[in-house]
Amino acid sequence: MRAMILEKIKTPLRLVELPIPEPGPDQIQIKVIACGICRTDLHILDGELPSPNLPLIPGHQIAGVVEKLGSGVTQFKIGDRVGVPWLGGSCQHCKFCKEERENLCDHAVYTGYQMNGGYADYCIANARFCFKLPEEYTPLEAAPLLCAGLIGYRSYRMTGNAKRIGFYGFGSAAHILIQVARYEGKEIYAFTREGDPVTQNFAKSLGAVWAGSSKEKAPVKLDAAILFAPDGDLVPVALEAIDKGCPVICAGIHMSDIPSFPYSILWGERLIRSVANLTRKDGELLLKIAPKVPIKTQITVFPLLQLNEALEEFRKGKIKGTAVIDMRI
Ligand SMILES: [Zn+2]
Ligand SMILES: [Zn+2]
Repeated sequence: MRAMILEKIKTPLRLVELPIPEPGPDQIQIKVIACGICRTDLHILDGELPSPNLPLIPGHQIAGVVEKLGSGVTQFKIGDRVGVPWLGGSCQHCKFCKEERENLCDHAVYTGYQMNGGYADYCIANARFCFKLPEEYTPLEAAPLLCAGLIGYRSYRMTGNAKRIGFYGFGSAAHILIQVARYEGKEIYAFTREGDPVTQNFAKSLGAVWAGSSKEKAPVKLDAAILFAPDGDLVPVALEAIDKGCPVICAGIHMSDIPSFPYSILWGERLIRSVANLTRKDGELLLKIAPKVPIKTQITVFPLLQLNEALEEFRKGKIKGTAVIDMRI
């Protein structure tokens, strides 16, 4: 099979031929059709997440078809359309796993980080951590739901009954979650990089009631803010934008350092909360609600051989919605 591998941190991925991996117990073999690019891919490539399992096939928003079943797999049959998320497995017996908080398991393993991911013609995955894809979505359309959508949805749910929500960073996750938020009658205020009218117009086209740069003040006090951009400088900015008793949710798996700030902007029972990974419940909930909204993912498609170029476009903030690798082209 073809695969794009990371051999060394901070070097481009390299195209190689590898044998097709065989599924072990509880695993399925998947013919990959689409794999969405995620910010976390860049964090891994740049060495911002410790100890990736090199050489590594990254990619953790995988949509494909089940081709082979390992022993003990009952959740899937051959030919099922399947999605593989970032959380690839957990110990299943620690206190977190027992409480359906497997996202916090100390022994969790992650797709495209410790386990090989989806920038290849085939991958294997633990069937218990995979999802059946809703019929309404093609694999290309479904791929962005599997990390941007799932972790975004977890972050969004942490805003509780907030009505006016600020999204800081308006990329892959935000373009999905604004659709859910509007479906639930919320108002979204979109904050982008400075001098980025294209993204601000994109946010407005999806129904943001206001869009501007993160240097600007929102026209109203917000009930919650979600930081999709991995920029610690935004934490005090968002704290100043929210009302008393409201949360700032940090949705990224990695963030630059948060600068010191006066206690007065946290005062009034404001909260700062990180979001770690996803649970299987998050996946079930999002994939159930997605066709009802209905969430329409906006994708820019690249072939596998242009993965390095796609990653660079994404890094520069040039992708509207989500960049997805189509394995068939
Ligand atoms: Zn565990
Ligand atoms: Zn991701």
